[in-house]
Amino acid sequence: MPLYEENDLLLYNSLSRKKEKFEPLNGPHVGMYVCGPTVYSDVHLGNCRTFISFDLVYRYLTHLGYKVRYVRNITDAGHLVDDADEGEDKIGKKARLEALEPMEIVQRYTLGFHDVMARFNAVPPSIEPTATGHIVEQIDTVKKILDAGLAYEVNGSVYFDVPKYNETHDYGKLSGRKIEELMSGTRDLEGQSEKRSPLDFAIWKKADPTHIMRWNSPWGVGFPGWHLECSVMSTKYLGEQFDIHGGGMDLKFPHHECEIAQNAASTGKEGVRYWLHGNMLTLNGARMSKSTGNTLLPYELFTGDTDKLEKGFAPTVVRFFMMQAHYRSQLDFSNDALLAAEKGYVRLMDAVRKLKSLQPGGTSDFKVSEWKDKCYEAMNDDFNSPILIAHIFDAVRFINGADATACGISSEDLETLTQSINAFVFDVLGLEDAAADEGGAKLDEVMKMLIDMRARARADKDWALSDKIRDQLAEIGIQLKDGPEGTTYTLQ
Ligand code: AMP
Ligand code: ZN
Repeated sequence: MPLYEENDLLLYNSLSRKKEKFEPLNGPHVGMYVCGPTVYSDVHLGNCRTFISFDLVYRYLTHLGYKVRYVRNITDAGHLVDDADEGEDKIGKKARLEALEPMEIVQRYTLGFHDVMARFNAVPPSIEPTATGHIVEQIDTVKKILDAGLAYEVNGSVYFDVPKYNETHDYGKLSGRKIEELMSGTRDLEGQSEKRSPLDFAIWKKADPTHIMRWNSPWGVGFPGWHLECSVMSTKYLGEQFDIHGGGMDLKFPHHECEIAQNAASTGKEGVRYWLHGNMLTLNGARMSKSTGNTLLPYELFTGDTDKLEKGFAPTVVRFFMMQAHYRSQLDFSNDALLAAEKGYVRLMDAVRKLKSLQPGGTSDFKVSEWKDKCYEAMNDDFNSPILIAHIFDAVRFINGADATACGISSEDLETLTQSINAFVFDVLGLEDAAADEGGAKLDEVMKMLIDMRARARADKDWALSDKIRDQLAEIGIQLKDGPEGTTYTLQ
C-alpha cells in the first residue's frame, strides 16, 4: 500500500486560514508551483529559506509516494524596481549599470542560484520555466482578460480592472484585505496615472524607448507585468486548476492576490487549491531583504567571510538549522543559533553512523513502531519538521546510550529504525553527512595522486611499482579500471 494511503496529510491553506486534509485533484499525481527568484542579483539566505521550505514539502510528498510535478519559475523579465508598476525592470537596470546584455545577467544569477540550491541539497524542480520563454502565452492571457472585460488598454499598456473584478469576485480573499480598506490606503492618483483605480495593476506595460527588454504585442512594443507570468506558467504546466502553490508570505499581497484574479478572469477558475506560504528569515530581528541591505549571502555563510559570523558553516548544517523551525514560523538567524544547530547536527550524524554498527538483542523501553508513527504524525501535521526532529532526537538518545553488541531491540525493529532514520534524515529533511562527504572528496584527491603515480610508473616502464599500487589498492577493496577516458576507481 502506498504511504499516502496510510497517512492523512494536513496542509495549512492560507486561503481558508485552516489546516485542511490534502486531497490531490488527480492523485497520485500532484501539481505544485513555487514562485522562483528574480535573477538580477545573488539569492540571499532569506530567499534560500523559502526554497528550502518548499523542498521539504516536495520531498515529503514524494516520500509518501505522490508523483509530483514541481514547477518553479525563473523571473527574468517584468519585475520592476517599484512593485507599483513603476521604475525600471530589475534585470534591465542591472544590465544597463554593468553594460551587459540582460540575458548575461539572467544567466549569471540563474547559474549562481542553481549552485546554491545544489549545495543546500535541494531537489531541482521538474520544470523551471522562464518569463521570457512564455511571452506568447502571456500575450494570449492578456487578450483573454481583455475579452472578459476585466482589463482595459491605455496608451500601449493594459491594466487589470480591480474594482470591476471585485463586483463579481472577492479581491483580497487570500490576504484578508477588503477593497474599501485598500482604496483608503492608497494615494489619490488623479491625473498622475493611466490607471483608472490605484488598485489596478499592469498585465502588459508599454516599453519606453530606454527599456531594453521589449516585445511586440497587439498593444505595441512592451513587456508583461510581473504577476502575469506565474498565472500563465503555473496553469500551462499544471492545468487551470492545480493542487499547491507556494511562496514566501511577503508574496501573498499583491502578487498572489493578483494571480488569483488573473486566473479567474482568464479561465473562470481560481487555479490554486492549497496556498502555502513560508515565513521570513530575519537577521538580528529584522527581515532579511535585498533592498535594506540586511542580508547574508550563502557563500559568506559557507566561508565565514563576514563580520556577522565567527566562522563558516556547512550548507547541510544551515539546512538543519532551518528545519528546526516550522516553515510557517519566523526564524532568526544568528551566530549563536548556528553554533547550537551545528552541535545538534554533529550529535545526529554520530548517532546515524553508530546505528550501522548496532546489533539486535537485549531489552529496552524504546518502542520503534510507536516512535515511527509519531514521526509521520509530525510531518502529516503541516510538515512539522521541528517536532519530527524532536522525535529523531529521542532515537538519537536511544542509539547513543545503546550497547552496540545487544542494543535492546529485535532485528526487525532495528531494521525499521535504520530505514526510518535514513528516510527522515536524508530523504525527507534532505540532510547530508558532511563528514562522509568531506572524506569522499579527500579520497578522490588521494586516488588522483595514486593514479597519477601509477601512470608515471607505467610511462617509465616501472612495472613493479605500477603493479604494486594496483594490487595493494585491490587488497583494501579499491579496484582500478583502465579505460579510454583514463583510469577510474571503484570501491568494493
Ligand atoms: P524574489 O527573488 O525577491 O522574488 O524572492 C524569491 C523568494 O524569496 C520569494 O518567495 C520571497 O517570498 C522569498 N523571500 C524574500 N525575502 C525572504 C526572507 N527574508 N525570508 C524568507 N523568504 C524570503
Ligand atoms: Zn510568482
